[in-house]
Amino acid sequence: MSTLTKSKSAEPKAAELKQYIGGKWVHGSGDREIVSTNPADTRKIIARFRSASRQDALSAIEAAQMAWPQWRAVSSPARGRILAKAAEIARARRDELAALMTREEGKILSEAKGEMDKGIALMDWFSGEGFRLMGQTAPSELPKNLLYTVRQPLGVVSVITPWNFPWAIPVWKICPALVAGNAVVFKPASLVPAMAVELVKIFEQAGLPPGVLNLVIGSGSALGDMLVDEPRIKAVSFTGSNEIGKQVHTLCGKRGIKVTCEMGGKNPAVIWEDADLELAMGGVLRGAFGSTGQRCTATSRLILHEKIADGFLSKLISEIAKIKVGDGLDPAVGMGPAVDESQLKTDLDYIEIARKEGAKLAYGGRRLEQGELKHGYFVEPTIFDGVKPSMRLFKEEVFGPVLAVSRVRDFGQAVELANGVEFGLTSAIYTQDISLAMRFVDKIEAGMVHVNSPTIGGEAQVPFGGIKGSGVGEREMAKEGLHFFTELKTVFLDYTGQRRESNLY
Ligand code: NAP
Repeated sequence: MSTLTKSKSAEPKAAELKQYIGGKWVHGSGDREIVSTNPADTRKIIARFRSASRQDALSAIEAAQMAWPQWRAVSSPARGRILAKAAEIARARRDELAALMTREEGKILSEAKGEMDKGIALMDWFSGEGFRLMGQTAPSELPKNLLYTVRQPLGVVSVITPWNFPWAIPVWKICPALVAGNAVVFKPASLVPAMAVELVKIFEQAGLPPGVLNLVIGSGSALGDMLVDEPRIKAVSFTGSNEIGKQVHTLCGKRGIKVTCEMGGKNPAVIWEDADLELAMGGVLRGAFGSTGQRCTATSRLILHEKIADGFLSKLISEIAKIKVGDGLDPAVGMGPAVDESQLKTDLDYIEIARKEGAKLAYGGRRLEQGELKHGYFVEPTIFDGVKPSMRLFKEEVFGPVLAVSRVRDFGQAVELANGVEFGLTSAIYTQDISLAMRFVDKIEAGMVHVNSPTIGGEAQVPFGGIKGSGVGEREMAKEGLHFFTELKTVFLDYTGQRRESNLY
């Protein structure tokens, strides 16, 4: 995000964005005019908008509160049908929106298309959940008594999302919230407002009633506390950094409301001596350098068995040397830019920190500024070898294409290293030995574990999320993601039609 002047090349016209409150597109009344630019070439302006003020956020909450009773009364299969319609519209616009995502966030076009597909699959999954919003029945100890549970919506919920998956993450929060019958106030990351506006337009076009989904675009530091602390907010679904996630969690804790915070990762991939090394190579390349390392699930630590370490590393270096870095719209490009100047600085700072702490720079390490690259936030894919557990590069999330390599002798040491950080989002092991793989699955402290596949990825029908410092609250996606947005009510129905004394507590 920066304020820049003119675009020199033929670019789609910069979008003039508005807030969406109570079913109307309105200018924000905040005091900042925000200009979002293409991180691959900051001369290209993607969008302009007047930021939302605190009053706008309040109006969005009020609109949601007004719309909620009627939305709650719509049957859940009918709510699901609106999601199905949204999926249909998104499918038709997939390539156009993927190109916008690449221009706004920087990830390469094939990855943006993959993210579009994932979001559409999530819409498909949650639309069907409208038919499956089921409770349970249970036998009672009493005669002629029916015990059952129903799932009911919470009310107005906040959805606060990061910039790195500007389509899929909002989808996987907004869809379950809506199908469960809640009204939503959505605040996307300030760096990706154009994708957020397109997502909301899709729901509007799909027939979502006014006020059920509201969009406020503006700075999280200015609006965030209101979207968490306002008494009408009944739950918060947050994805982002640990720093902000902990603040959100604390505020929700004080209010005693439901909260889920999905946060950072420092995900290990262990490559064992018996691994299919070609398979592992592909997985490490995609896991560590895909999306410029800007994935919560990125492979940021590589734990190599010492017997294969030298050979694997030298082949990895020769492979990353082939990655063309540049504008993600160019089909020859394999890695795009950092999302903004601040993330670029973080990447370069960690490279410097790792050098100073004595890790061995095995590849990369520089900002790329030759030719057209000087207009964007490009950094080389970077590998450090000999990274020790005491080093910051081993322990802290960079959120960039900087891979920390460590070597181990035995399984116990591999598990100790893999678990030796505060995070616990995802993990991977490459081995041909099923019993070793299963021991790893058992011991690894992570919400997700991959065997012979990279640390990245998730599917709509299975829970997604982390443990330890990576996540608190309910998992996302799947049934768990839906259940977060509901309250469970237990019903005791006595149909004897007689008075009697109960001896049950
Ligand atoms: P961030 O800085 O924490 O921001 C996340 C969201 O919170 C943005 O919408 C931001 O708004 C908003 N925000 C900022 N201050 C706030 C406050 N005081 N109260 C409430 N909301 C506030 O994170 P990011 O840089 O966008 O995303 C990168 C991080 O997300 C990484 O750590 C990554 O690992 C994590 N992530 C985790 C997952 C997962 O599922 N575990 C998935 C993707 C990303 P502004 O943009 O306006 O500041």
